[in-house]
Amino acid sequence: MAKVTLTPDSGFARELIDAGGDSLKKCYQCATCSVACPMAPANNPYPRKEMVWASWGQKDKLMADPDIWLCHNCGNCAELCPRGAKPADVMAACRNVVYKNLVQPSKVGEWMSSPKGLPMLFLIPAILWLVIWAIRAAIVGAWFPRTEDGRIVFGQIFYGDYTIDPIFMITFFGAVYLLYKGCSKLWNSFKNGDGKLVVVGPTKPWYYHLAMLLWEEVGSHKKFDTCTEGPKTGQPENNRKLGHMCMIVGFVSLMIVTAIVAGGHWVGKVVPVLSIETPMPLTFPVKLLANFGAVVLLVGLVVLTIRRKRQNPKFFASNYQDWYLLGVIWLVALTGCLSQLFRLADAVHCAYLVYYLHLVFVWMLFAYLPWSKLGHLAYRTCALLFVRMYGRG
Ligand code: SF4
Ligand code: SF4
Repeated sequence: MAKVTLTPDSGFARELIDAGGDSLKKCYQCATCSVACPMAPANNPYPRKEMVWASWGQKDKLMADPDIWLCHNCGNCAELCPRGAKPADVMAACRNVVYKNLVQPSKVGEWMSSPKGLPMLFLIPAILWLVIWAIRAAIVGAWFPRTEDGRIVFGQIFYGDYTIDPIFMITFFGAVYLLYKGCSKLWNSFKNGDGKLVVVGPTKPWYYHLAMLLWEEVGSHKKFDTCTEGPKTGQPENNRKLGHMCMIVGFVSLMIVTAIVAGGHWVGKVVPVLSIETPMPLTFPVKLLANFGAVVLLVGLVVLTIRRKRQNPKFFASNYQDWYLLGVIWLVALTGCLSQLFRLADAVHCAYLVYYLHLVFVWMLFAYLPWSKLGHLAYRTCALLFVRMYGRG
């Protein structure tokens, strides 16, 4: 019989425990979880093997394991585990630890992993936007200016050409570049690890798999019909699907609005007839789409927050990363809505202050994306593409 020598990494196991996998030592390897998981394939099932690797601190194996990204966190395994080892939480902790260290500077990942890092995460954009506010206030001659006809126009302080557009462009493309680096690193570790699977049936090009994947996972959320709210109910996770769909529709609507407004602003410099002036009238179609997106986003937030609060802690719990992401999206949505309401109510001080906070939270959402649970969308897509291309349909 071949001998295998394992070198336990207790530091990594401790990191997993701190990231929400505190129940991992309870596992006694009965494999009930792998049988219960509706997502696990017949060959190479999970999450039992991940429980072994986690308790032995096998960092390299977990880094190279695409399966930790395939879990939908439905909790079926946790509900049936005879030892209360909460494998769903351990899988989530594995993902948290992997994306915390995936891209540089990993210091940001460290700040993102506990409430202690929150002041730094907030202070960076808070100082950035405050400096811009101070400079513009000196140029315009007021901290809370109005136009000549008495209107509140945020662009007077946070001017698109030199502040909002370039800063958010750099932030967005910087985050996309880091996500690409993170995905490349993951892909290479999957290829070099044990995760490479036996190729079954005819292979298709990567773009076919990617298109199918984006439709099934993001467009239709079909997999949420496979995952159930637990073996006792056997019901599809309708609330979770509704919440996620609302968030996607809300975000996509707001991104379309941002693209139209920015496009109108820059193209309008060359073709004045296409120019879009902000603030837009409430009945303008682009404004209607913006407000529709905001309302749908708020509905999604309410549904997902209630669902998290109602989760049975006996089977699985929400970790800090879950609440951090939900909290930042709440703050983005609320400050966005309130800044508009204060502007319409002509409350000039509140309007500018809340809009400033809105910019801070939007920056936090995008700039820290590669180390956040939102970045996990890209890493998960990368893992799903890998397993499809290597034979798991
Ligand atoms: S996590 Fe629970 S169900 Fe899975 S192998 Fe361990 S003890 Fe068994
Ligand atoms: S939480 Fe659901 S998808 Fe994830 S391992 Fe457990 S049963 Fe499988």
